[in-house]
Formats: sequence, C-alpha cells, structure tokens
Amino acid sequence: MAKKIILTGDRPTGRLHVGHYVGSLKRRVELQNSGEYDKIYIMIADAQALTDNADNPDKIRENIIEVALDYLACGIDPAKSTILIQSQIPQLTELCFYYMNIVTTARLERNPTIKSEIKMRGYSENDGEGKGIPVGFYTYPISQAADITAFQATTVPAGEDQKPMVEQTREIVHKFNTVYGEALTEPSILLPDNEACLRLPGIDGKAKMSKSLGNCIYLSEEPDEIQKKVMSMFTDPDHIKITDPGKLEGNTVFTYLDAFSRPEHFERYLPEYANLDELKEHYTRGGLGDVKVKRFLNSVIQEELEPIRNRRHEYEKDIAYVYDVLKKGSEEAERVAQETLDKVKAAMRINYFDDKDLIASHIAKYQK
Ligand code: ATP
Ligand code: MG
Repeated sequence: MAKKIILTGDRPTGRLHVGHYVGSLKRRVELQNSGEYDKIYIMIADAQALTDNADNPDKIRENIIEVALDYLACGIDPAKSTILIQSQIPQLTELCFYYMNIVTTARLERNPTIKSEIKMRGYSENDGEGKGIPVGFYTYPISQAADITAFQATTVPAGEDQKPMVEQTREIVHKFNTVYGEALTEPSILLPDNEACLRLPGIDGKAKMSKSLGNCIYLSEEPDEIQKKVMSMFTDPDHIKITDPGKLEGNTVFTYLDAFSRPEHFERYLPEYANLDELKEHYTRGGLGDVKVKRFLNSVIQEELEPIRNRRHEYEKDIAYVYDVLKKGSEEAERVAQETLDKVKAAMRINYFDDKDLIASHIAKYQK
C-alpha cells in the first residue's frame, strides 16, 4: 500500500496561538497518536518567514525555540514525529528553483492567500512610494510546494488559508510528472472538521487570528492574561442591555465556543444549560449577558491551555534537549529530501555525472 506521509508547519514569527491549535496543531497530535501515518514531518518555516521579514532576522532566530516549545507542549512527540528547521535543508531551496520554471507569474498573481497577505502587509503593487513586494514573498507558494513534495507528503493538515497553497502544489506535481516523468506525490489538504476552526478569528473580531495582526491568545499565555483577553473580546455591538436579543453571526465569543466547548464543559462550569445550542438559543432570545458567556468561555479555554502551559514550563528547563531534537530532526529530513532531489534531477536529466550513457555517447561522438 502507498505510504501515508504528513508534512505541515508554522512560521517562526511569534509564539503559537489558539488559532494554530484548533486549525492544525491539535489535529497533528491526534494523527501522530493514531498510528495511521507512516511518517510525520513538522517544519519550522524560518526561510519562509524571512521572505517578509528580511530586515528582522533576529525575530525569526528568537522564535524558532518558542515554536518548538509550543509543539512539544501540545504533545508533538519527537519519537513519533520529525521536527525540522526549513533553512537547514538546502535541498528544499534547490527543488524550489527548478519548480519556478513550471509556474507562471500569472498563476502566482491569482493566489488568493498571497493577494490578501500582500494587502495585510501593506505592500504596494508597484515600487513607487510604498514598499514593493519582495520576490521571495511572492514566490513562497512555490517554495511551499518544494517543502511538501520533498517529503513526498500525501497529507497536509492546515487551516483554510493554506488551501490555495496545496492546490498550487498539486498543479506543480502534476505538471512536473507530466513533463519529466513520475517523481513526485500529489498531496491533499486536511482541513478541520469544525467550521469555526477553519479560520479562527482574532479576539478583535478580525477575520483571522494572526501573529502579524497582534490579536491572539497565545498557547503559553498566563491565566490572568487569558482572562483579560477573553473578557475584552468582540461580541455583538448591538447587544447593549441584557434583555436585548443577541446576534451569533460575527460574534467572536460564540465562534470560540463553537471551536472549544464540549458538553462536559457545561456540566462543569454552566450546568443550567445542557449544551451550546441551549446557550445560543437563550442569547438570541435575549436575557443573557455577554459577561456570563465570556466567563464560561474563559473557563473552557483555561482548562484546555493549562496542561499545555505546564508541559511547556517543563521543557523550558531543558532547552539544550529541544535544540538536540531540532538538529536530529533536520538531519533526518535532509536525508529524505536528498532522495527526492536525486529523483527530480534524474527525471529532469540534470544528473550528468550519474548518467553513464550520456558520458559514453559523448565519448563516442568525439572518438574518431
Ligand atoms: P503569520 O502572521 O506570520 O503568517 P500566522 O499566525 O498566520 O502567522 P502561520 O505560521 O502562517 O501563522 O500558520 C501556520 C498554520 O496554522 C497553518 O496551517 C495555518 O493554516 C494555521 N492557522 C494560522 N492561523 C490560523 C487561524 N486563525 N485559524 C485556523 N488556522 C490557522
Ligand atoms: Mg500565515
């Protein structure tokens, strides 16, 4: 049977937040422990993070360990999953360079995630006044295709923003295999089942919780900070008096409850309601205040994050071990990526020194 391989990762632009957790990280741990996959690679995408942080390499350098600690704290087990640092695998850069030849600039321009990220970062389309778009940033979907295919990944567990990236990777694989012969595996994205987790909004109600937008609850956050953030969360601006009927749409507190709450939480913290549907029904009818709902959400999130934070504090005592995990993982990943690169170069017929027939034919050509 064909092997089932996972590749997924995060940019080390900050500590990981609950959006990462519900969008991808929690799933990774479940998949890791399910034993259904032959191999799991988890990549700290520092080279990708540098594409829009060229002037701030220290930010990336400082956050690699933070992301690694968050992984271990969430239950990523180095005995079962390989954690690697992207920049330490030169084969990824080499693959990217060859894939660039089979992607058009028009195709890159159509990538909706890139489009919205360009806007978010304030890049201007032309160099005129504002800051232009770095070429590396613009082409990062191709580099991501290199990351995924280097490990012949079949499955990419990620949030919704990654759909266009995996789609583009599939196109690159298809094109490569058609032009040069079968060498690469077509991956599929594995999205969260729960709709609220596809793209968790920020605590400010903005469309996506994102390190770059500063609207996050971090996994390593201390309890009083979590509480402060939850109590300040965006709800329904028209729900002024308790008796007012409240709206659920765009109400971040309820989106978070969709993502995090389970029936047992009601038993423990809000037994007057059997489940989330009953709570929602009361809120929309009127007579239920935001503070009560926020207090409940706070209890739910605190319960989820407490063990993660405690485990993190344990790993923080042994940073040398964490670096060792990253080094060993990167070394293993490099060996695997080299196998794919060899295949790719053979398929593209740029393996001159391994090609005895080529050399023999040139000898014959000049042998008179
Ligand atoms: P940056 O702002 O630097 O891009 P980010 O917060 O968007 O950081 P990434 O490292 O780009 O985080 O994303 C890593 C993974 O987490 C991806 O699989 C992405 O889909 C998922 N993810 C990130 N933010 C969210 C979110 N708010 N909801 C669901 N999934 C998310
Ligand atoms: Mg992102």
